[in-house]
Amino acid sequence: MELRKDPITRSWVITGDDVSEKPPRTDPVCAFCAESPVAPQVISSMASVDGGQWSARSVVHPTPLYRIEGEPSRRADGLYDRMRSLGAHEVLVENPKHDGNLWSASAAEIEQFLMLAAQRIHDLKRDHRLKYISIFKNHGAHAGQEFEHPTSQLTATTFVPRRVLYELRAGRDYYQTKERCVFCDIIVQEERQNQRVLEVRGDYIATCPYAPRVPYETWILPRTHEAAFERFGLSRPGSMRDLGTLLRRTLQRIRTITEDFHLVLHTSPNTLHRSESLGYWKTIDEDYHWHIEILPIISAKAKSYTFKEVYYSPVTSETAVKRLREAAVES
Ligand SMILES: [Zn+2]
Ligand SMILES: [Zn+2]
Ligand SMILES: [Zn+2]
Repeated sequence: MELRKDPITRSWVITGDDVSEKPPRTDPVCAFCAESPVAPQVISSMASVDGGQWSARSVVHPTPLYRIEGEPSRRADGLYDRMRSLGAHEVLVENPKHDGNLWSASAAEIEQFLMLAAQRIHDLKRDHRLKYISIFKNHGAHAGQEFEHPTSQLTATTFVPRRVLYELRAGRDYYQTKERCVFCDIIVQEERQNQRVLEVRGDYIATCPYAPRVPYETWILPRTHEAAFERFGLSRPGSMRDLGTLLRRTLQRIRTITEDFHLVLHTSPNTLHRSESLGYWKTIDEDYHWHIEILPIISAKAKSYTFKEVYYSPVTSETAVKRLREAAVES
């Protein structure tokens, strides 16, 4: 596998010819369950909340896209840029139980999973080669779900993914003219207008964005300013409990519409180490604001938004939020 940069959009793609040559794994038992005899190498574990061996843990991805050894060896290829796919690729096992999903697990269990995510980001940022750590979840056949067991995935890369780069630049531009964080301003306006707010819980808000990319797109943000997810979680013990509950309730609501969704955490890039370029690295603590994005997939409408030049969402966020607010939530 190698990374190549599109010189027009400046986005990196990971490419290689050996992806599908391995036969699909046919283990008769789940590799991620608590007592699995075929468990992958464990990287980090969180203590159990109910007397078991662990509550959430990170393991090496069985077929990693990125590998941790060596240097990125970034080099030119005429006008193009390429580099080795250096980085990390982990599976974050959300729960030891095969049916312990983020919409059904206890608040304490979800909190442990969120704390695991924070700790992994914190650890990996100590590696100066790694510029960004992504945490995401693909759930459902239409979302490209990889494992049956409740899992999220982590990739650590030597570059900042394009969507995050757009957000960082937009955050910086807004801050330069207004001296305020654009995400903080969005939260204030949404809470005042109360047309797209799904739920407020303690220090967190779930809201449908003003201009959604897909129907029922939902963001969860902290209501107090913080650029880095892991700093927020690790510096304030207990701060992830309300987030876990709000995440669970939001996923319960979205699952009344569709089972398939993408979930991604957007947090600040690695600012512990000097980067050779880009001024926004200096102001990022002021102008970026971490958040979770949930992008539901409505298969019947999938055709409508495969045309990605302009996003098309056949449900407005005001209508989406009405339906999601009315959805039955267990706890
Ligand atoms: Zn399992
Ligand atoms: Zn903010
Ligand atoms: Zn984002």
